Amino acid sequence: MLKVSFFGEAGIDTGALRKEFLTEMVAGIETRFFEGPPHQKSPRYSLTDFDSGLFRTVGEILAVSLAQGGPAPTFFSQWAYSYLCNGQINPTQLDKNTVADSQLRLLIDQVESSTEQSLQGLTDEILNCGFTGAISVQNKEPIVRAITLHAVLRLQPILEQLKEGLQLYGLHLLIKQYPEICQPLFVLGGDVKVNAEFVMASIHPQLSEKGTSKHQVELDLVNFIQDLLYESEEGPEHLADEDGPRSITPARFLQWITGQGHVPLLPSEKKDFAVVVKFNHNCEADFGNHSICYPVVSSCAKTIVLPVKHMKSYSQFRMVLLEAFHLGQEFNNV
Ligand SMILES: [Zn+2]
Repeated sequence: MLKVSFFGEAGIDTGALRKEFLTEMVAGIETRFFEGPPHQKSPRYSLTDFDSGLFRTVGEILAVSLAQGGPAPTFFSQWAYSYLCNGQINPTQLDKNTVADSQLRLLIDQVESSTEQSLQGLTDEILNCGFTGAISVQNKEPIVRAITLHAVLRLQPILEQLKEGLQLYGLHLLIKQYPEICQPLFVLGGDVKVNAEFVMASIHPQLSEKGTSKHQVELDLVNFIQDLLYESEEGPEHLADEDGPRSITPARFLQWITGQGHVPLLPSEKKDFAVVVKFNHNCEADFGNHSICYPVVSSCAKTIVLPVKHMKSYSQFRMVLLEAFHLGQEFNNV
């Protein structure tokens, strides 16, 4: 079991900190060691990192995250995942969109839009990719093909090293045996994404007795949450603070309250996964006479307490909740 304590933060690891740690770790790995369009990434080509054995470490950390119920590395491209499963690259599945390296992508664009003369200027770069035919505009297609294969095939030893790391906990054996079952852990499929619908299904409001006026107010607030989540899905940009670091999305809303922004992977966790919404109808009791207070989030208990009095309309709710959310991005987890 991985135990985590953040420096300078009073947190007792009941799982929320561990998840937050793994969430940050996996996100950091994605930006540092992978490149390409979102959810279709390939390892970043670096023989320096390869020589230091860093891709083995990457594989080990991904295995730890998967084994400990952390986020799944759902950023792999299909071809890279297939290679991890069966050790083969199927050249017929590769096209120029498989190329993740930005310089080689640029080279492909330059070749495709080249004239006979400008193509000659690219000779060195084309030869470096292993193309051995005549460099002329008639050969644009085989030239692009050579660049594509070069970009992909040179990643083979790096993927091999990653595979070694995945052997931790026998994960690689599982992938090899059950490539289709494991695929959603590495390649984004429709059901892994945290959207407004998923968050709403995870919310368990602690409602007052039916028929009371409190009950009605609480239902309104649940509807406000739903409205805000759908609004954030449509266009997160306009929900951003002027100077706020991150705008709200369903995944970040979930992460704010639970310490994890991904769908739980372990069946046992999926079953118990719930965000508890509580309602504070009497915040004067806590704060005396005051004009504003904010939702209280406890990520260990996966609970948010809403101060009902300050959230009477949707616009009030939205303002108070977003302010608390943006503050929560700065002062997290106590
Ligand atoms: Zn209050």
